[in-house]
Amino acid sequence: MIQLSKRLEAMEESATLAMSRISRELKAQGKDIISLSLGEPDFNTPEFIKQAAIEGMEQNFTKYTPVPGYDDLREAISRKFKRDNNLNYSKDQIIVSTGAKQSIANVVLSCIDPDDEVIIPAPYWVSYVEIVKVAEGVPVVINASIDTDFKITARQLEDAITPKTKMIMFSTPCNPTGSVYSFDELKSLADVISKYPHIVVIADEIYEHINFTGSHASLAQFENVYNQVVTVNGVSKAWAMTGWRLGFIGAPKNIADACNKIQGQFTSGTCSITQRATIAAMNADPIVLKDMISAFKNRRDLVLDILNTMPGVKTNVPQGAFYVFPDISSFFGKSHNGTTINTAEDLCLYLLSEALVALVTGEAFGDENCIRISYAASEETLTDAMNRVKIALAKLN
Ligand code: PMP
Ligand code: GLU
Repeated sequence: MIQLSKRLEAMEESATLAMSRISRELKAQGKDIISLSLGEPDFNTPEFIKQAAIEGMEQNFTKYTPVPGYDDLREAISRKFKRDNNLNYSKDQIIVSTGAKQSIANVVLSCIDPDDEVIIPAPYWVSYVEIVKVAEGVPVVINASIDTDFKITARQLEDAITPKTKMIMFSTPCNPTGSVYSFDELKSLADVISKYPHIVVIADEIYEHINFTGSHASLAQFENVYNQVVTVNGVSKAWAMTGWRLGFIGAPKNIADACNKIQGQFTSGTCSITQRATIAAMNADPIVLKDMISAFKNRRDLVLDILNTMPGVKTNVPQGAFYVFPDISSFFGKSHNGTTINTAEDLCLYLLSEALVALVTGEAFGDENCIRISYAASEETLTDAMNRVKIALAKLN
């Protein structure tokens, strides 16, 4: 058998995608599984976006595109950054990729040499650590718990910085916690980061619009760090376009050029039709997302209301994205029918077999006390799922 590379062997399978694969397999066997494992909106892509794709096809936008994306798409993204985030990114600072996931991988591969340290506040999105490992960087995890709303402080960040630190990577609103950094909180992080001008920050803002606080703050707005920040965004979440595959960065010009170079060898420009559709999304007033955002907020409240009736489940109130990340560590050591729960993963497997509800273990996100519930599902489905979880948890003693 061919020996795989050490690089690959060090890398774990994506836990979110693994859980969604297992749910699909169990469903195919006829099991009545409710999957709240994947961070994917259940809404359909808006009609005006689909229409733009159809027009793109009819106009024969079906050939290779420029590697960093069509010029008019990057101009539309540049206007979006200005309109929504008050960020000035010219067209040549913007690179369009096959999803925010690829955008992040491009930046990491562009900036990280073997042994460079990358500070990743936990809980973090599953792929951050694995992408850093592929680049042979060293993930340095700093922990924030439910008691601080899963947010790190400027002090914690500064304490983690060493001469080897090259990058910091985080998301706001955060996957998996739904935490949102305020303007002031980001400002205090920016004040630390600006003291270390050789450190680059990936600010992953893919959940920008799914924010219940009323305003989104971007790290790159602070002038003292603008030249150090790569702002990542995309259309998967707010525009319900997960399958279309498009993400983008606004970045310092040399990093944008590097991502363009990598992408030119790995994948080329993303799908031409997706790019035409995305122009329509970028030009739209985000006010059209209002109903979707309020639906997500109602769902969050519904899930929290039921979770808060479950003894032993500790929650905070997430302010964005579409995840709740409860602390379930009080169940460790408890059993039912000979199954003992020792870890969050044990609890997820127990809930999968006993409640037929698929969730994701917090271990994959760097927090072994929690589990992630994605509430991107209908209120009816969520009520059913939460009631099943409640019954299953009550059996543990
Ligand atoms: N960042 C975060 C925090 C995410 O949750 C996701 C979800 N897949 C991504 C990046 C990647 O998004 P996509 O590749 O679908 O644009
Ligand atoms: N970001 C989503 C999640 O966390 C999609 C799955 C993935 O790309 O890992 O579930």
